[in-house]
Amino acid sequence: MTEHAEPVYNPRDVESRWQRVWADERTWEVSNELDAGGRDNAYVLEMLPYPSGEPHIGHLKCYALGDAIAHFNRRLGRRVLHPMGYDAFGLPAENHAIKTGEHPRDSTAASIASFQRQFRSWGISIDWSRELATHEPSYYRWTQWIFLELFRAGLAYRKEAAVKWCPHDQTVLANEQVDADGRCERCGNLVEVRQLEQWFLRITDFAERLLGDLDTIDWPANVKTMQRNWIGRSEGAEVAFRCEELGIDYPVFTTRPDTLFGATFFVMAPEHPDVLRLAEGTEREHEVREYVNVALNETNEERGNVEKPKTGVPLGRTVTNPVNGEQIPMYVADYVLMEYGTGAIMAVPAHDERDHAFATAFGLPIRRVIEPAGGSDAADEDVLPYTGDGVLVGCGAEFDGIANRDALTEIVRWLDREGKGHGAVNYRLRDWLISRQRYWGCPIPVVYCESCGIVPVPAEELPVELPEIEDYAPRGRSPLASAEEFLSTSCPSCGGPARRETDTMDTFVDSSWYFLRYCDARNDEAPWDGGALGEWMPVDQYIGGVEHAILHLMYARFFCKALADLGHLDFQEPFAALFTQGMVTKDGAKMSKSKGNVVSPASIVERVGADTARCYILFVGPPDQDADWSDAGVEGVHRFLGRLWRLSAETAERTGAAGEDFDVSAELQGEDLILLRKTHWAIDKVSGDLRRFAFNTAIAAVMELLNDCSRLRDSVGDETMRFALATGASLLFPFAPHVSADVYERLTGARVWEAGWPDAQEELLESDAYELVCQVNGKLRDRVQASTGAGPDELKELCKLAPNVQAHLDGKEIVKEIVVPGKLVNLVVK
Ligand SMILES: [Zn+2]
Ligand SMILES: [Zn+2]
Repeated sequence: MTEHAEPVYNPRDVESRWQRVWADERTWEVSNELDAGGRDNAYVLEMLPYPSGEPHIGHLKCYALGDAIAHFNRRLGRRVLHPMGYDAFGLPAENHAIKTGEHPRDSTAASIASFQRQFRSWGISIDWSRELATHEPSYYRWTQWIFLELFRAGLAYRKEAAVKWCPHDQTVLANEQVDADGRCERCGNLVEVRQLEQWFLRITDFAERLLGDLDTIDWPANVKTMQRNWIGRSEGAEVAFRCEELGIDYPVFTTRPDTLFGATFFVMAPEHPDVLRLAEGTEREHEVREYVNVALNETNEERGNVEKPKTGVPLGRTVTNPVNGEQIPMYVADYVLMEYGTGAIMAVPAHDERDHAFATAFGLPIRRVIEPAGGSDAADEDVLPYTGDGVLVGCGAEFDGIANRDALTEIVRWLDREGKGHGAVNYRLRDWLISRQRYWGCPIPVVYCESCGIVPVPAEELPVELPEIEDYAPRGRSPLASAEEFLSTSCPSCGGPARRETDTMDTFVDSSWYFLRYCDARNDEAPWDGGALGEWMPVDQYIGGVEHAILHLMYARFFCKALADLGHLDFQEPFAALFTQGMVTKDGAKMSKSKGNVVSPASIVERVGADTARCYILFVGPPDQDADWSDAGVEGVHRFLGRLWRLSAETAERTGAAGEDFDVSAELQGEDLILLRKTHWAIDKVSGDLRRFAFNTAIAAVMELLNDCSRLRDSVGDETMRFALATGASLLFPFAPHVSADVYERLTGARVWEAGWPDAQEELLESDAYELVCQVNGKLRDRVQASTGAGPDELKELCKLAPNVQAHLDGKEIVKEIVVPGKLVNLVVK
């Protein structure tokens, strides 16, 4: 099939040649100096990788995606910051060290080297001058500095708390790191509860702003919804229930102050710090103590289950219901969670399912205080609990007959007047627990002095460096606690003996500010210079997996707000726009070593080249959706790039590299005009598709253009062909940079990345195309643009290349092809 004289597309040669040019010339580096040409700046950022082993296919997708956006922005005339770094602290490297004895620093370095090598071999346009890794002292010095800024502002604090503890990883977990079944997100073991002194960051102070400012950023709706749910704002009232015997007010938060008259008992969470004190000296003391111990080891999921039989123990005390003065009994019960509200509730069995189940089990009074509006004859115990709306009954002359919705405000107003409560807002969001009893993390820069208490390490003594240790295994305390030289120090305040904090920080702290450091990565005097941040922040386009919707993306937003309040930043939101990419699956399943279905980017790049790998992964489907890897699809893209390169090489042999001014105009006739129009159609299509992240259809448009070039190769003039192919390469550059740079240089002698993004000429955009219906076994699977002049073979090819058709062809044999020109193609498969 190949003619002898035909030049051969060799991705290895093409790719290594252009990678050398970009490395030698440091093409993608940008300075922080204001641009003399007055160009706009753009900050395009993919989430930094966690360096463990080698990059996987998800990395290829993420960085191919981000690189396309970075290139498009550059070609639109912007200066683009597109840096790279590594989220290098964390458990996998440490667990590996425990198993093998290899220092986490060494395994991390090896992994980083592998990531660097592959990013270069993929041709990602990275500004390597700003590269960083969060485990380097030059970086974590500033992580510690930020911690101390938060500490001074009262936003980092230490308190004893019931914490989630993973018995396998021997460390504390943040609430966000425990899944819905109460298991460790990392190892899947059931999480336990322990009482420990821990460091927290006061993210709850920012709940309202974290919620409200979601309206100011261009993020996917599902991510915003996940953040809203996590913050979990609810409106209601805080009401004080007084324990007269002990003279203590116990506040509860309720969203249903309209049901206060129906509160017939009072329940505290087992973690509530007062539970044991209340039971002390009563006949229930021993029973309560035992119950609390058992309850603390249950998961929140179990405890919150509506179906679960209700258990609890009376505390032997009563509190006063503030609306009617009644003494109601106090209980401890595991269905009440410390994380909600104040850790205590007023129980209204007539109007709440779980309270009702508890009251039934314990023989407690159930008092109806809301009846359906218009009255109901069936208002007896049988239909309780009643959770609908209605009018108040049995609430005294002042409130009876009021619609319960109105009572929500009226009762709160009354409580306020009486000094017994007030309107309140509650958040599900809890303060961020950052202490970890592990080695491979950023040391918390404080010391403990007997006379001075907690003393921050002075800024000039930062970083507090991780000491070298022999034994990484956690034994319920941080491995740092056994590093005696590290541990004992002197107090910066009084000079007396002191000991260092031995916990390290949650690695999410490291990644909550790295995007700031990129702006000024080599600054030794400060974490960043305000001017440098002014040039680049906020990030214009952030890209990453939707699995970070809550943790990383919430923490980074919190850091910006806190640092802005402290005068270190002058913006509130770190990421103006966010794009979340879908997963790459194989045979419909998540890739995993155990399933043996892992596609390694290194082997694909080795076999077909980086351009094919990058192009394919963006072509396989809309990039925000999950997509299934198909080897046949890879081959199709590889053939396409080969055809583009060969046809261009042939054309260049005839025309030479004849510059970027093309002698083509609307005066052209016949096939030349058709190809000219098709080229402008492709410019228009790819430009629009890139703006809406429809990379798959953008690539398909260049494929269509190339099909026309092939079809018309013998009937159009050289200059028309040169224009069409060079433009095709120019449009393909964001996705397949090496082959595109090569083709463009052959045809024009110029560098495509220095060329402006092409403009579509309006007068050439008249439609010469129609929408071809693509069917598989008679079912509509896709629609693609086909030019009016396209013959049956081209239409069949177009249909086969349509992304959703490919999905239905994979692994099947085409037995018949039906073409109705101007309308449809139907592929019959079995
Ligand atoms: Zn675990
Ligand atoms: Zn001291």
